[in-house]
Amino acid sequence: MDEKDGAHLKDLLLRRRREMLDRLQGLETDWQALSAHDIEREEEAQKADLYSLFDQFEEQESQELADIEAALAKMVFGDYGLCEKCQEPVGRQRLELLPATHFCRKCAEELEEKLQKPPVLPPTV
Ligand SMILES: [Zn+2]
Repeated sequence: MDEKDGAHLKDLLLRRRREMLDRLQGLETDWQALSAHDIEREEEAQKADLYSLFDQFEEQESQELADIEAALAKMVFGDYGLCEKCQEPVGRQRLELLPATHFCRKCAEELEEKLQKPPVLPPTV
């Protein structure tokens, strides 16, 4: 990967990270605004909505955020863009789509396949 590609991917990761942190911050600000005074019935509903947004963030995005942090750390240490399993470079197109990916396409497919196979059950006794 040349320097220009690296800078571009770093930019993608930083932008995505910024977006997520801003959203989290926005949720926290709203939450504090609602918590700052005695809330009315109407606001009770808003609070429940916010709560489910936090939950959603926790479930879906905190992992992605962690992956982004890990990818940025790898950039700092100079091993960004290498598959964590086979150590081969991850394809440029794949990085463009999934800049925080841990694996090359081959390893990711292998993993997917293994995860989808039902576990071998011991024979019933
Ligand atoms: Zn690999």
